[in-house]
Amino acid sequence: DDLKPIDLNEGLQSTLVLVRNSMPDNLKVIKDLGNLPKVECLPGKINQVFMNLISNAIQAIKSNGKNREEELLTIHTWYEENVVKISIKDTGTGMTDEVKHKIFEPFFTTKEVGEGTGLGLSIVFSIIEKHKGHIDVLSEVGQGTEFIITLPVNTK
Ligand code: ADP
Ligand code: MG
Repeated sequence: DDLKPIDLNEGLQSTLVLVRNSMPDNLKVIKDLGNLPKVECLPGKINQVFMNLISNAIQAIKSNGKNREEELLTIHTWYEENVVKISIKDTGTGMTDEVKHKIFEPFFTTKEVGEGTGLGLSIVFSIIEKHKGHIDVLSEVGQGTEFIITLPVNTK
């Protein structure tokens, strides 16, 4: 696999197209995609990151049930000095601190057998590490979850 300069907004857009059919009717997607420089990435891998995070967000929203009129999935990207930031935020179930501390471990899942392998976020973590970036998570039970990815922009 070779690094290629990637427009990450495009990767997010195409991931959203792929998951559109799995979104519940009460889910509204908000896209706030900033003007980004291209980032040297492994194209397949970085799309896998988006797919895993967005799928988890949709599942967390579905777990809230259909009682709420509107759920939000917010994708925000922006550029800061030498880094690109990607935030994927949902109004899903949120996580307890106990769960939050284990989510990047392989095979950790809170989902029913057959619904989750618990591998998604451990793969996300290693891919982001491979790109010399990092990933942060903010979450509150009953409020939702936000993952923030930071990726360095190659300025060489
Ligand atoms: P899986 O989705 O197969 O369970 P993941 O590695 O993708 O495995 O996620 C691990 C666990 O992290 C999930 O089972 C869930 O408990 C928690 N999690 C991940 N993303 C979210 C989210 N957006 N909202 C709430 N919980 C989440
Ligand atoms: Mg998952």
